Amino acid sequence: PTPNGSAHGFSNIVRKKLMGYVGFANLPNQVHRKSVKKGFQFTAMVVGESGLGKSTLINTLFNTQLYPRKVPLPPSAERPKTVAIESITADIEENGVRLRLTVVDTPGFGDFVDNDESWKPILENIEARFDEYLEQENRVNRQKIVDNRVHACLYFIQPTGHSLKQLDIEFMRRLHTKVNLIPVIAKADTLTDEEIVSFKQRVLSDIAEHNIRIFQAPIYENEDEETVAETEEIASKIPFAVVGSDQEVDTPDGRTVRGRSYPWGVVEVDNEDHCDFVKLRQMLVRTYMEELREHTNLHLYENWRSEKLHAMGVAQDSSVFKEVNPAAKLAEERTLHEAKLAKMEAEMRMVFQQKVSEKEARLKQSEEELYARHKEMKEALEKQRGELEDKKRRIESGRPLTPEKGGSRKKGFLRP
Ligand code: GDP
Repeated sequence: PTPNGSAHGFSNIVRKKLMGYVGFANLPNQVHRKSVKKGFQFTAMVVGESGLGKSTLINTLFNTQLYPRKVPLPPSAERPKTVAIESITADIEENGVRLRLTVVDTPGFGDFVDNDESWKPILENIEARFDEYLEQENRVNRQKIVDNRVHACLYFIQPTGHSLKQLDIEFMRRLHTKVNLIPVIAKADTLTDEEIVSFKQRVLSDIAEHNIRIFQAPIYENEDEETVAETEEIASKIPFAVVGSDQEVDTPDGRTVRGRSYPWGVVEVDNEDHCDFVKLRQMLVRTYMEELREHTNLHLYENWRSEKLHAMGVAQDSSVFKEVNPAAKLAEERTLHEAKLAKMEAEMRMVFQQKVSEKEARLKQSEEELYARHKEMKEALEKQRGELEDKKRRIESGRPLTPEKGGSRKKGFLRP
């Protein structure tokens, strides 16, 4: 599956106007550097059964009509059989700070008769986004890396008041090492305050029992007291009991607030006495958006990457992650190639030398042979000359020649 989903690709970027202060204008303070012009990218995923108020909460969180209102399917309509992945991207701006927000929705999750593998397409989507990032990192030009990894996953728990369902546990167990999990109790206005307190305790004990890691804002050394207190307060609210509403309602005391109106009163979204919405927004946007991005990059993605490379047979240093550097790989290949060439050259030189010495030996041998033949011929000639000289001397002294074998005496030649 493409990480972008089918229905809403990244090309569908829409500009959205905010209806109030959200808090991401604080991002430059979170990162302590001037990234204002470049803007920020943040991808949030929402998972939970349909009708739990996911789209409403996203719209409430970012104070924008990011999600079009969903039209419920008529009962006769054919329902999809698998979890779909859809993403919507919007450019939103606050006090000159630009945020490219992508919300990944997972319609269908938990809506089927058999939900055993509902987590699977979601895990695949998260990993496909890691893959896409890894591929960009390995490119020669790494200047323009687009970070489409999921930085936070809001998991919506049905407000049953009992405990987590098997579906919830299975999802969190499968995904907690791949994404920053932020559990939320949906539609908290349907539970009483006491029910919320005991439900939260049961949810937390289920999470602990199954060794599920949920995102916790870190507390650093030398942090000032105020920050520590704020972080601890946010942590004490997990799982956040939230109420979403993109409607404004009038309170009995004459204020107009975002909330839900009931015969017995108004539930205010932005009132900390009514729900944990404010604390959730603080965690997700105002204070820890950068922390969520960093944790995704340094821990979740890095672990996934080293596991993947390990599976591919690239051994990694466990403490320091080495870069899979294409330049280093090329240099290594070149050294190997050069060594191979040098070896071939040495072998050729050896063969050449062997041939030369063989030739030299052969030449030497024929020289010796020539010399021997020359000597032989010289000796034969010498001998011949001796004989001729001997003959000459005898003729000159008048002595008859020694009769040659088979030789005939000249007629009329008398002995003295
Ligand atoms: P989704 O399918 O999870 O995206 O759910 P929606 O956001 O479309 O909401 C489904 C219905 O629940 C809508 O009628 C919303 O008005 C309602 N709803 C959303 N949030 C809340 C909430 O916090 N409390 C209550 N009581 N209803 C809510």
